[in-house]
Amino acid sequence: MFGVIRGQNNPRRESVMREFPYVKLIEGDLTDPTSMVRAVEATQPDELYNLAAISHVGYSFKNPFLTGAVTGNGVLNVLEAVRVAGLAEKTKIYQASTSEMFGGLDYNRPGAGYNEDSLFHPRSPYGVAKLYAHWIAKNYRESYGMFISCGILFNHEGERRGVEFVTRKITHAVARIKLGLQDTIELGDLWPKRDWGYAGDYVRGMWLMMQHHQPDDFVLASGETHSIEEFLTLAFAEIGIDDWRPYVVQNPEFMRPAEVDILLGDPTKAERELGWRREVDFPGLVSRMVAHDLSLISVDANV
Ligand code: GDP
Repeated sequence: MFGVIRGQNNPRRESVMREFPYVKLIEGDLTDPTSMVRAVEATQPDELYNLAAISHVGYSFKNPFLTGAVTGNGVLNVLEAVRVAGLAEKTKIYQASTSEMFGGLDYNRPGAGYNEDSLFHPRSPYGVAKLYAHWIAKNYRESYGMFISCGILFNHEGERRGVEFVTRKITHAVARIKLGLQDTIELGDLWPKRDWGYAGDYVRGMWLMMQHHQPDDFVLASGETHSIEEFLTLAFAEIGIDDWRPYVVQNPEFMRPAEVDILLGDPTKAERELGWRREVDFPGLVSRMVAHDLSLISVDANV
């Protein structure tokens, strides 16, 4: 098994090598086409999972050009690399598409979750770049008959989520508040709703797409939507606090120029055709993330 790692002295190299000693790391950068060709030629992959992207919506507003180059055009470099290496018939490709390609609710089916046929209306440079990636992947599937599947994944969270995302930011802060290391947490808008699931369940779904008899697009989602306020309520309840309001400070710095008010996905097709089922529900997700941060921070702080 191989992984591509980018940049000089990438600080993540050591932790990846420690946690996944069986993965061989090779150098490459999505924006450098020849490095992608070299990576594909060296590894001759049966399955190639492109999860690489600038993936933070807030960051993409501040770095829209870079987001387009990496998250959008970078995918073209991966697809071309497989073709140039003569592996178009051998290598199956997974492209990480995203619910951020949708813009809110499916106005054609009020109250229903987004599915594979819903209209796209991205509301951030990240969503727009991912939409290009989604369509170029489909275009290569249709033009060259390549096995390329796009997983349209709704928010998937877990212990490895970066603290720049709201779920981990909350569970990390809640653990620090419990351990007396922090008093409050600064957040942006609390009313947006997301369809949050557990990343491990979604990775299983990605693998199932690659084992399917034909390439296709699939939505992976929990089929439920919850506000950030609901996430806060469950996370603070884990440390015995009923009212989170005194601990939360609103900071406009974390608000966005355009917001996706509500995301809700409909995973019926993946359930029917792939036999995919999620195992971790919303309360289970919050609970395991808080428990993880409590143990992590206790060890770090020797508490
Ligand atoms: P996204 O759905 O991919 O943008 O995932 P995020 O976890 O970054 O954001 C989820 C929602 O939380 C969005 O509606 C954000 O506007 C909202 N949010 C509120 N406060 C914060 C914050 O402090 N950080 C982040 N990342 N999001 C916040």
